[in-house]
Amino acid sequence: MTMTPETILTPEAARAYELDRRHVFHSWSAQAALTPTVITAAEGCYVWDGAGNRLLDFSSMLVNTNIGHQHPKVIAAIAEQAAKLCTVAPQFANDARSEAARLIAERTPGDLDTIFFTNGGADAVEHAIRMARLHTGRYKVLSRYRSYHGGTETAVNVTGDPRRWPNDHGNTGTVHFFGPFLYRSEFDAETEAQETDRALAHLARTIEMEGPSTIAAIVLESVPGTAGIMVPTTEYLAGVRELCDTHGIVFIADEVMAGFGRTGKWFAIENFGVIPDLITFAKGVNSGYVPLGGVAISAAIAATFADRVYPGGLTYSGHPLAAAAAVATINAMTEERIVENAAEIGERVLGPGLRELAQRHPSIGEVRGLGVFWAVELVRDRATREPLAPYGGTSPAMNELVAACRARGLLPFVNFNRLHVVPPCVITEAEAKEGLAILDRALIVADAHTTS
Ligand code: PMP
Repeated sequence: MTMTPETILTPEAARAYELDRRHVFHSWSAQAALTPTVITAAEGCYVWDGAGNRLLDFSSMLVNTNIGHQHPKVIAAIAEQAAKLCTVAPQFANDARSEAARLIAERTPGDLDTIFFTNGGADAVEHAIRMARLHTGRYKVLSRYRSYHGGTETAVNVTGDPRRWPNDHGNTGTVHFFGPFLYRSEFDAETEAQETDRALAHLARTIEMEGPSTIAAIVLESVPGTAGIMVPTTEYLAGVRELCDTHGIVFIADEVMAGFGRTGKWFAIENFGVIPDLITFAKGVNSGYVPLGGVAISAAIAATFADRVYPGGLTYSGHPLAAAAAVATINAMTEERIVENAAEIGERVLGPGLRELAQRHPSIGEVRGLGVFWAVELVRDRATREPLAPYGGTSPAMNELVAACRARGLLPFVNFNRLHVVPPCVITEAEAKEGLAILDRALIVADAHTTS
């Protein structure tokens, strides 16, 4: 690691770094070239690195800490639960798990009132697909290109981005289709209405050609997250619902990233008034303080397993520490109107602020999002829309942009050619504006790589 004034670590941080490099194997990475930032502390919307620098967390630690870092009520609930009861096997009942399920069921749309708990997002997707297959007696699963559903076997196979490629053994029952994405339309559409119509026609045709009676589920992110925050139209999601109803296909809405306040609603799909059959969740359910995920199940699918054994389970399903953290998180988000805050900051500060940056920075091709869930699509050339980094890759321009943000005190979340603006849902107007001001200066670095 190059030692600059920003990276002169405290002795504790230096030890964490050295041990990490010696013993820790990191996700989605070639290990040799890694130089992970040491994070030593956090509070609200800020984290501190191993050199003592304070960074405004515009990443929410993988779009996760919706309630912000170190919320005192959640910390207290975990400590209280730890003192009372740390572990309970899944076949028993437990007050923390029961209450967490009740609070989640109360917030899900429709009759998705039964909750199966998992340890995170990927296993939630795995189980949702298994439930759909058993419920329908069919095997195929349709999912979008430009999507992410997790790193485990089935979840990575339904994923529609390059992370699937090295993990794909083929013959998995997965069929990918194109969803609506007007900025990079696969359908030569010029308006949202055209894009919606043509994307739905393409999905209908895919179903027809694959054989409707072979398709168990369509799984899609209500608002795709790491793939680029392409907010769909209400008509698109309503159209998917209709196709599912027509053909007896289970509609799985993956809300692992978009759920629990991120879009300014408890669940992103509420923005569109559509009710899926299964919702997968994780991350925001307890802001990642203790690993937790799950599937919210419709009454009809839950009924399938009333007299028939559900063949699946996890030792830590509804772990008391994770469940207690979920109860405290959901209660605090409700009492402190944190979901409403996400909606308001998005509408009043982040959306207008980012659009204003787009007017002045030629590297910004498009700004998309809602709530505290925004993507800034960076391009080399606005006319051709050539991305500033290749699909599935990175580029010196994007690396320089990240470094420029970091040098000015902002922790960004970057994916391929996109800067994702995904701060905690508790972000204040002043913090949002602080972040936008840093982006304004950092984007000059990206502008220098444009050719238009
Ligand atoms: N689905 C979506 C939409 C996600 O964004 C993610 C994680 N980024 C996952 C599933 C997988 O979740 P996890 O990493 O907790 O397994």
